[in-house]
Amino acid sequence: MKKYVYLFNEGNASMKELLGGKGANLAEMTNIGLPVPSGFTITTEACNAYYDSGKAISPEVKEQILIALEKLEQHTDKRLGDPTNPLLVSVRSGAVFSMPGMMDTILNLGMNDETARGMAELTNNPRFAYDSYRRFIQMFSDVVLGVDVYFFEQLLEEYREEKGYSSDPELTAEDWQEVIKGYKEIVKKRTKKDFPQDPREQLFLSINSVFDSWNNQRAIVYRRLNKIPGHLGTAVNIQMMVFGNMGDDSGTGVAFTRNPSTGEAVLYGEYLINAQGEDVVAGIRTPKPILTLKDEMPTVYQQFADTCHHLEQHYKDMQDIEFTVERGKLFILQTRTGKRTAQAAIRIAVEMVAEGIIDKKNAILRVDPDQLNQLLHRRLDDKVERNLLAKGLPASPGAATGGVVFDADEAETLGNEGKKVILVRPETTPDDIHGIVAAQAVVTSRGGMTSHAAVVARGMGKACICGCEDLKIDLSKKQFIVGDTVVNHGDVITIDGGTGEIMLGEIPMIEPELSDEFKLLLEWADETRKLGVRANADNPVDALRAFEFGAGGIGLCRTEHMFMDPKRIPIVQKMILAETYEERKEALDLLLPMQQGDFEGIFEAMQGLPVTIRLLDPPLHEFLPDKEELLVEVTKLQITDPDNEELQYKEKLLKKVNQLAEFNPMLGLRGCRLGLMHPEIYEMQAKAIFYAIATLNDKGLPVKPEIMIPLVGHVNELKEMRELVINAANEVQQETGKEFNYLIGTMIEIPRAALTADQIAEEADFFSFGTNDLTQTTFGFSRDDAEGKFLQAYINHKVLPENPFVVLDQEGVGKLVETGVKLGRQTNPTLKTGICGEHGGEKHSIEFCYNTGLDYVSCSPYRVPLARLAAAQATIRNDKIIGEEKI
Ligand code: ADP
Ligand code: MG
Ligand code: MG
Repeated sequence: MKKYVYLFNEGNASMKELLGGKGANLAEMTNIGLPVPSGFTITTEACNAYYDSGKAISPEVKEQILIALEKLEQHTDKRLGDPTNPLLVSVRSGAVFSMPGMMDTILNLGMNDETARGMAELTNNPRFAYDSYRRFIQMFSDVVLGVDVYFFEQLLEEYREEKGYSSDPELTAEDWQEVIKGYKEIVKKRTKKDFPQDPREQLFLSINSVFDSWNNQRAIVYRRLNKIPGHLGTAVNIQMMVFGNMGDDSGTGVAFTRNPSTGEAVLYGEYLINAQGEDVVAGIRTPKPILTLKDEMPTVYQQFADTCHHLEQHYKDMQDIEFTVERGKLFILQTRTGKRTAQAAIRIAVEMVAEGIIDKKNAILRVDPDQLNQLLHRRLDDKVERNLLAKGLPASPGAATGGVVFDADEAETLGNEGKKVILVRPETTPDDIHGIVAAQAVVTSRGGMTSHAAVVARGMGKACICGCEDLKIDLSKKQFIVGDTVVNHGDVITIDGGTGEIMLGEIPMIEPELSDEFKLLLEWADETRKLGVRANADNPVDALRAFEFGAGGIGLCRTEHMFMDPKRIPIVQKMILAETYEERKEALDLLLPMQQGDFEGIFEAMQGLPVTIRLLDPPLHEFLPDKEELLVEVTKLQITDPDNEELQYKEKLLKKVNQLAEFNPMLGLRGCRLGLMHPEIYEMQAKAIFYAIATLNDKGLPVKPEIMIPLVGHVNELKEMRELVINAANEVQQETGKEFNYLIGTMIEIPRAALTADQIAEEADFFSFGTNDLTQTTFGFSRDDAEGKFLQAYINHKVLPENPFVVLDQEGVGKLVETGVKLGRQTNPTLKTGICGEHGGEKHSIEFCYNTGLDYVSCSPYRVPLARLAAAQATIRNDKIIGEEKI
């Protein structure tokens, strides 16, 4: 018989797939002797069996649950439903990957009229017993019976008003009994049935609904966002209740073993005295910081701090821990690897190496390259004075500016239109998740650092400020008030999630810098990786940034951007309009020194590292005005001002635009075809490069140029262009008396080039796979059309697993890359290879490049640190460099 139910002492941390993360860790903690309330776990397989049999718990599973329940009763010496000694349990969901707050949990199960009375006597605390009972009715009705909590809250509020109470703690045992009567009437009215009194019935109904919650809307959205497969299912944990709501010697809380925002190695969390379960994260009462517990309950605090240390050493990672104190006794209810910001991830990884908890390799693996984007973004300029509007808790760092919105749906709508919005709410719930995704940042007026908004925002790397109690939010008027300032829907605010500050209007941002810990981690990455990382940079500013971020060279310098400069465009147009060779030469002679200047700047910034310069790639009509606009202007002038000198020029332009127009510019006269048809353009560019080298040589500066011919499909194209470049070099050499060291290579971005790479490599010193265009030409997709018209639908319908312009299509495009490398090296063993598409900054594609044996990847300067880390991770994973831990 298959085992569907495990007592906590029968499992361990490695059984996550079967027991879910929560269950596996409860088992592990039980076995290392931590104070965990006893219980058992119903496996994810039972969940899948439940779905397979049309949402029914099979007799087999049911029987195993009842046996485990009996053991739990024996162990705790309490009985479910026994009024003289009742066992109360929680029914907790627990998926393989943590999905905080996404699924349902029920507390205090086993309460009914009789056990409530029994509890009251047994604990000598009737107030506590009836408070727990009403919590159970409300939670069970909400989760299992589908009665909205609103009805219960409404009743409670009316009751409080009637009695003149301002808060719940003022209600007595008798009051709660009255409230319970009302609650039961609500249930009867809404479900046409009495509230179930049989604890076993309660139990099985709850298990069903936890299984059901695997497929509730918010869980589905969360899984989609986090790429968690839907077939895994959730486990269910049945656990003896412990009570944080038994009085002022009790409480409940959540803590991280280190600060999840900054990474600082101090306990970080919150708790509430005399409270239960989700009270802390719900944001209803603002909790106290964990350090206060040291004064309020010194012994418990010390025990908790020791437990945190123990757990961190045991799991070798920062933990996120839920605990409850019942009458001065500490219980641990959950531990899991804590979610953290990129900044914290780096600091924790680096410090854990210093503390001897993990080694460098593991530290490198601890930081997700995707997360680093957060750190490489701009932040608020410190030099600009901040007109502080309000200050809340700095829940997740980062700066953001946007219009204020008060509703998650609206945030989503505006966000999808490309508008920048900041979601402002009293608190957020899992139902707001789509709005948080779409917003630039989140601000709440209630709740602490572990509130829902804070946890979710940190997970997404989004700026967040919580518990900003100065904000008086009026959702119906769509505004908030701070003092006498009214901020309306749509007004722009700026927030600094690292300080908790909220300012009116927009504040300028500045470029990011790498922290010392980040630099250290990247140094370790550089020691480990074997794949080179270069940057795509078209101008000296980007080249400098690339150099600062540790690029080992420039893998792609596009020269067309130099042509697009508004000051140069008239000269470029003159060159295009030229009727004769002389005319064209004249324009090119003007462009040459400008290009030379650009190249000098870039070479200088890179201090002798290799720089790959691609000769002109786009079709010439891209440098001319838009045809329609031109037509309008010409027609206007013809009517209003036919003698205008402009007109003649514009007519000439228009004629040229018509001449150069192409049916399919992506496959038209561009790349090396341009070089073949108009060699004087490439000649000018090549000479500008060599003159630049000569100038730098005069200054005693080293240069390593690599000249790249784009869009080659046939070896003969490259052969001619190679000759052209060599001739240019020789000419400049004769003129300047300098010797030049340079490479000539090509971009591989057409399938034919990859398939005939052996021939092409005879004329090439290097290949750079231009995977953007190679993806277009391999799929036959035009990127702009695909992304605008059908790619999303393809992904939604699983025609394609991912956007191939973001994550390299290894099976198709990747096969061409592999083929190209293999064939190329056959005829040219010293061939250098790299990629320069956007894929060069994407971790999966980087791993592929490493495994394919490329020499380097090239990506945008901001992604260089990410690529250095990802390249190191690829080496560790694929070379199976095993540290002290399993990887
Ligand atoms: P989630 O996965 O949404 O965090 P949990 O299953 O962890 O849900 O339950 C939420 C909270 O309920 C816990 O943090 C804890 O405070 C409370 N809780 C759960 N089980 C028990 C229990 N056996 N005794 C006391 N409190 C419990
Ligand atoms: Mg939890
Ligand atoms: Mg291209």
